[in-house]
Order: sequence, then structure tokens, then C-alpha cells
Amino acid sequence: MQHIEFNQVTKSFGAVEVIPPLDLSIQNGEFVVLVGPSGCGKTTTLRMLAGLESASSGSIRINGEDVTDKAPGDRDCAMVFQNYALYPHMSVKDNITYAMRVHKVEKAEIERRVSDAVSMLGLKPYVDRKPRNLSGGQRQRVAIGRALVRQPQVFLFDEPLSNLDAKLRVEMRTEIKLLQRKLGTTAVYVTHDQVEAMTMADRVVVMRSGIVEQVDKPVELYDRPANQFVASFIGSPGMNFLKATVGNGSVRFGSQHLNLTPEDASRIGEHGEVIFGIRPEHFRQASHTSELSFHCSVVEPLGAHTLVLGTVGDQKIMAQVDPRFEADVGNTVSLDVDMTQAHYFDATSGQRL
Ligand code: ATP
Repeated sequence: MQHIEFNQVTKSFGAVEVIPPLDLSIQNGEFVVLVGPSGCGKTTTLRMLAGLESASSGSIRINGEDVTDKAPGDRDCAMVFQNYALYPHMSVKDNITYAMRVHKVEKAEIERRVSDAVSMLGLKPYVDRKPRNLSGGQRQRVAIGRALVRQPQVFLFDEPLSNLDAKLRVEMRTEIKLLQRKLGTTAVYVTHDQVEAMTMADRVVVMRSGIVEQVDKPVELYDRPANQFVASFIGSPGMNFLKATVGNGSVRFGSQHLNLTPEDASRIGEHGEVIFGIRPEHFRQASHTSELSFHCSVVEPLGAHTLVLGTVGDQKIMAQVDPRFEADVGNTVSLDVDMTQAHYFDATSGQRL
């Protein structure tokens, strides 16, 4: 049985439908990340699951039970918010134990759970402090601790790391992931950051304009994006897209062409106009097998690798190459394209071919 099920769930605000019928199943213990550009409906979807927003139609089930019309407190979900939502006048310990005290959990049990949570989250030295005397990362840990002690069926995270600096974000995402693994609690996590989505999720749900574009494991999204939108959203630096024509076993960009792999040739053989996709990391120093030449306009050495930006005809292209590779601005650069890593999208629909 699926742990969480959205069945034809919609949401409208007034006359505006922000979530068209949505179907989504999440398994017990899974870490699922909803990702997409601002305004695509991730938070609304999460809030409907939490019960903080009502669905306009359709049903939501948790553990087989229809919770569509249930109050947030009756859904056994604990949510961690972007702004932490801590009580400023309460100590760390009081913040963490608040919900348990309201629900009249036994005192000894409260002590046991809070002690487990603070040691798990490294908060022991801070239990008597007020939130204002904590760093952003520590506050976020308190917010997580508060969710943890409720021992919910489901953790919900709404962009919990957005207010932290880049270094702390990387640390906290590992911590959250490890914690979720250890507890085995189903988690649904919202972010607009594709790196966060890729590194934390068992499965990623890529959304655009309320529509689920693809639900897959991170590596599948990277290797086999369902359409050009997903391909452009996943991966950093982003995938290159070039208008091209496919025919006679090759893909042509103006005066240049590359040979298709036998598999691609048999699948898309004579498709005509396509969008050719290749990630910057799938260029190699030319060994003259599938070489693409382009005009080099910018070189960005980043230490571990170098980015070479340029143009093929009037189309922009970026390659990530070995830092020892020498490319001169203003000159022509020739690099091999790893054709086993090429993607092809229909020029009109953007769907993967
Ligand atoms: P972000 O990453 O910016 O938080 P999001 O993907 O989480 O975006 P939502 O917050 O779910 O997006 O919003 C989805 C759409 O619904 C947006 O167009 C937003 O303007 C609209 N919306 C959200 N809440 C309301 C509301 N209470 N009333 C009217 N429109 C709303």
C-alpha cells in the first residue's frame, strides 16, 4: 500500500486553478522532494497534505485513510517551516516540548523524547536558550527537533534551508537526510533548489505551473529527462540546447554535423527538426571522432574544471573541460561530444524523443 496518495487533487484560489488534477503516490519511508520554479505550486501541494490548505476537489490519503477533510492536527504530519516558526519567548526545550505538553504526553516520556532529540541534533548545550540567542542553523535544528519529538507518520519540510548560508545549507541537508534515513519516516520536502532535490531525494517530483512534469530517481532525471523543461531544470551548469536537424544517421547544426549512435539513429532516424541537448560535462578534448567546433567567447577557470562559453552559428554553448585545456577567447575551439550522452527533444512539444 502507498503511504501517501494524491488522487485527482486540484486547488483553485478564486477563479484561478493553480493545481490541475494531481496524482502522486509516495511509499512508506520514502524521501520525496517537490521541486520547480517559483509559483509552480509546490508549497500549495505540501500545505494541502498538511491540511493547512483545503483541496478544491479530489482526495488525499495517508496510510490508507482519507484525510482530505481532516484538520491538520488529526493528520499525524509534522511540518518544518522556512522561517522556523519558533516561539520567541520560549526556551529551546520549551519550544521542542510544547506540542507534547499540549497533548498531555506523560512527563517522563516528554523528557525521554526531548533528550533523544537534542542529542541527535547537537542541541544539548542550548536547551535553556531563547531562539534569538541561537544561530540560524541552530534555530532550524530546534524546528526539526520540534517535529521529531512528535514522532509523526510523515515529515513535511517547506524550504527549510533557504534562510541559511550556502555552507550551512550543505551541512544541514546531509543532516536532514541522515536523520530521515535513521528514523525511516516518510518525508515530503519542498525546494526550488535542484541541487538540494537531487542530493536529498529518493525520488524527485518536478513541477511546472501546477503540473507534475516527471517523478523519478535523481539519476533518472539527469540521464533521461522526460522533456526539455526537466532537462533544463536539472543539472548545473544547465544542459545546452541547440536547434538541429536529424536525418541520414546524423544530427546537423548549420554547416556541421555529428553522427548519431546506432541506437539513436534507429529510434529517431529521420525526425527532422529537433532540439539537441548536451550537458556541459559531456564534452571531451577532441579526439576527432565526434568533434564540434565553436567560437569561444568566454573562458572561466574554476579550479577543478574550466567553463568555455561560445557559439555554434548564432546558438550559445557551454562546455566544461579539464583545467589544463587551453582555449583562447576569440578563437575556434574544437571539442568532442560524447554522443552516448546526447538528448533529443521534439522541436515543437519539447518531449523527449
Ligand atoms: P515558491 O517557490 O515561490 O514558494 P511555490 O511553487 O511554492 O512557489 P505556491 O506558493 O504553491 O508556489 O503558489 C502557487 C500559485 O498559487 C502561485 O501562482 C501563487 O501566486 C498562488 N497562490 C498561493 N497561495 C495563494 C493564495 N492564498 N491566494 C491566491 N493565490 C495563491
